[in-house]
Amino acid sequence: MILGVIEYEDNMVTEASLQMVTFARKVAEGNGVGFVALVIGCKDCAPLTGQLGNYGVAKFIQAGHDQLTDYAPVAWAKVVSQVITDTSPAIVMAAGTDKGNEFMAHLAAMSDQPMAANCSAVNPGDPFQITRLRWGSSLLEEAILTGDCKLLTVAMDVVEAEEAPVQGEVDVQTIEPNLTESDLRVRLVRREADVTEGVTLKNANVVVGGGRGVGSPEAYSLLEELAGKLNGAVGCSSVATNNGWRPHSDQVGLTGTRISPALYIACGISGAIQHLVGCKGAGKVMVINKDPEAAFFGKADYGVLGDLHEIIPAVMEELGK
Ligand SMILES: Cc1cc2nc3c(=O)[nH]c(=O)nc-3n(C[C@H](O)[C@H](O)[C@H](O)COP(=O)(O)OP(=O)(O)OC[C@H]3O[C@@H](n4cnc5c(N)ncnc54)[C@H](O)[C@@H]3O)c2cc1C
Repeated sequence: MILGVIEYEDNMVTEASLQMVTFARKVAEGNGVGFVALVIGCKDCAPLTGQLGNYGVAKFIQAGHDQLTDYAPVAWAKVVSQVITDTSPAIVMAAGTDKGNEFMAHLAAMSDQPMAANCSAVNPGDPFQITRLRWGSSLLEEAILTGDCKLLTVAMDVVEAEEAPVQGEVDVQTIEPNLTESDLRVRLVRREADVTEGVTLKNANVVVGGGRGVGSPEAYSLLEELAGKLNGAVGCSSVATNNGWRPHSDQVGLTGTRISPALYIACGISGAIQHLVGCKGAGKVMVINKDPEAAFFGKADYGVLGDLHEIIPAVMEELGK
């Protein structure tokens, strides 16, 4: 049996978890085994039941505890560990999100088993073969997963969430896990709505990104002015966030936001792979850099060699005309 741990927001299964359920359902069907979903700490599971039924889930376990009302990494791992003891699944899957990779890593450490993150394919024979996305999806790793119960997360967007051709009644089993106070020490206590309005990094048609070459937090006003003229948003490299010049929400890249504007103007950014994976969805890339050897020029549609502090004002002057 495959056990799939479900993530949810506002009492609805997340898109990443629906993709994981679709992936798991196909692996289960291909190998003649069952699939059971596990929902942890959800207050109102009724909407989830309907949704999971549409995606072919015939059985789900609801783990409820009065102290566990939202995400808590160690507690979630402990709940999964108890369900493994009770149901002996061959595979446990979760979505390859930050949360999924976090609680599954806790589970792996707790149960002294290996865990494979961000799998794009699974062949559960002997040996148990997997393909993993690494380096921001620029590398495919073929690996063998060992362990009594195979623990893995499914990379996001490798399958589309697909409703099942056959949908039926969902059998819901409720359990109360044993948790201690220390299991709940790290837990989500409050959610705040994103109040960003208008153009954001995610939806901007033009993004002006700045890196170490911008030189100071104050100098970002130049990039803001350019972005303003183009009705765009400002992004940055990790150096800018690490230096405290910009908030982390502005970071583009592997550990930041993935952007897909029509035009990305990268100013004073060298073009490290971890940054490039965040902007590979851009339609066109324009690089402004004073180093002709900067790697970013190799990925650019347009390259301007020179000091950004001179080039950006010149671009704005032309735009003004
Ligand atoms: C696990 C991991 C995750 C990471 N995730 C991210 C991520 O999400 N996003 C990210 O950005 N990085 C990430 N990084 C860091 C990444 O490897 C690079 O270190 C970082 O992107 C470099 O930032 P930078 O280009 O601003 O700085 P640098 O590499 O120092 O480049 C600065 C560039 O500015 C140019 N320059 C300097 N002055 C000027 C000027 N006046 N005019 C024009 N050009 C000028 C220089 O020629 C140089 O090319 C990650 C690294 C690791 C290991």
